[in-house]
Amino acid sequence: MKDHLSLFIMVDACGWEIVKDHPFLKKVAPHRRKLESVFGYSSTCVPSILSGRWPDEHRNWCYFVYNPAESPFRTLRWLRWLPTAVTSRRIFRRWLTKFVKVQLKFRGYFDLYNIPFKYIHLFDFTEKKSPLKPKGMNRGPNIFDLLEEKKIPYFVTDPSQPEEEHLRRLLGDIESERIDFAFQYWAGLDGLLHMVGNDSPEIPKKLDHYDRWITQVMETAKKHYREVRLHVFSDHGMANCDVHIDLRAKIDPLGLEMGKDYAVVYDSTMARFWFLKPGVKERIVEVLNGFPEGRIMQEEELRHYRAFFDDHAFGELIWLTQEGTLIVPSHMGERPIRAMHGYHPTDPQSYATLFSSHDEVPAEVTHIPHIYQLMERAVNYHAAAQTKS
Ligand SMILES: [Zn+2]
Repeated sequence: MKDHLSLFIMVDACGWEIVKDHPFLKKVAPHRRKLESVFGYSSTCVPSILSGRWPDEHRNWCYFVYNPAESPFRTLRWLRWLPTAVTSRRIFRRWLTKFVKVQLKFRGYFDLYNIPFKYIHLFDFTEKKSPLKPKGMNRGPNIFDLLEEKKIPYFVTDPSQPEEEHLRRLLGDIESERIDFAFQYWAGLDGLLHMVGNDSPEIPKKLDHYDRWITQVMETAKKHYREVRLHVFSDHGMANCDVHIDLRAKIDPLGLEMGKDYAVVYDSTMARFWFLKPGVKERIVEVLNGFPEGRIMQEEELRHYRAFFDDHAFGELIWLTQEGTLIVPSHMGERPIRAMHGYHPTDPQSYATLFSSHDEVPAEVTHIPHIYQLMERAVNYHAAAQTKS
């Protein structure tokens, strides 16, 4: 029997609106709280949780950025000669994504998504390392650096494995009493929500399923540890997408040349522009102002949400859609999906959650990067216990 186990379980996209009327974890983690998320996608929310810092500090924000000088994709340009009937097929892209990831030695999450091969040499990818590993942040340390430094034995999810395997491995580490700390990351709910939407009867079923898994983890843990502290949380919520807009269909007719006049990444809820010649910005802004479904994020607001970058690495102009509006087609996908996140942090469906086994979470824990403080506190507790024994 060991003394103390700290369990941190992230259920991706388990938003406040999705669980507020559901008895999710009422038994094992009855203390629940609504948290404000971070502006951006999981590509920034997860690193913010893991480091306790904000996008303008850790610089893990959106995946693709205009940076032809440092593009690792220049060797892929020949693919533009293949017919789009081949290159736009999901199966081909999936195969190529795996191939490119190995070739370029990317250690984090990687997907070529729907970036056209004609332009891929203009872009860089910003998650070359895995934030789920020590030294995995673009800038600064994360919780795994601290765990390594303090020599605390820990479990962390291997995202290349299926969810059942994550559960099996965590239970194994608890039964063998190998670990003091665990960070489990489950992405299944996020994938399901994208497909079926937040009002599908599948969602409460999936929540019940996680409830059973987490209860099983807690029951096992209590057999092997005198004290178990559990926190379950999410990185963001999920909004149904009922409005689709084709931004490209209005930008393309301007006759501006990508890579010469301007550059753009069409994310699913954001369009990020770089202007390469004078006068171009004004023309693009005029088009954007014709779309009531979105707005330009002003510098002051981006600074407020800690997503303003002085070097404009992620775009000189960020245009964001209203909650429920999806940019289709985008560089993230050719076809619509039922639901999406990455809207404004104060849009109703954006809010994240925190469920705790003990009523001891400080009142200052209001935003997802603050979850790091709970993890840091746990690591320091284990480090102090180690030196005592
Ligand atoms: Zn997602």
